[in-house]
Amino acid sequence: MSSIFTKTLDICQVGNPVLRLTAEPIADPQAEVVQKLIAGLIKTLKQSNGVGIAAPQVGRSQRLLVIASHPNARYPHAPNMEPLPLINPVIRSHSENTEKDWEGCLSVPGIRGLVPRYDSIEVEYCDRHGKTQTTTFTGFVARILQHEYDHLEGKVFLDRVESSLDLISEAEYLKLIQQGNKLS
Ligand code: ZN
Repeated sequence: MSSIFTKTLDICQVGNPVLRLTAEPIADPQAEVVQKLIAGLIKTLKQSNGVGIAAPQVGRSQRLLVIASHPNARYPHAPNMEPLPLINPVIRSHSENTEKDWEGCLSVPGIRGLVPRYDSIEVEYCDRHGKTQTTTFTGFVARILQHEYDHLEGKVFLDRVESSLDLISEAEYLKLIQQGNKLS
């Protein structure tokens, strides 16, 4: 677990070449260096109030990501989950259906984009205890996971939008969400 001794890690922003690399598999999930990286990612995620983070975002090109859904302005009914680290995740299968919704990224500050993602995905991964798990994720959590998985493949959400018209500033996004909340 993260502790007072765990440091918050610096976030790499788009333009940094590390975000464009294909991340390397982690050979030993139980290694102390990996466990420390997990703790650092969780602490950084909490500090930034994010819902997901991948190791390349802190300059470590390794196949590790953490998801931590919690309710937010756009997704008031999002599940509140303990941070879940996934080591060497593989998307085994996915729904046919995709849905477009808004995403942001710690590495792309100030911009939001409408991104199509599968509704549901089945993911095989190694948990923080070194055990292989297979889990089906749906909805918002599936979206977070696909976003973070992209970071392991050297992609950011800007590569996934269908049109530059689907990109807006954070300030305009907040206006849009407030309007939407008033209408619903
Ligand atoms: Zn991101």
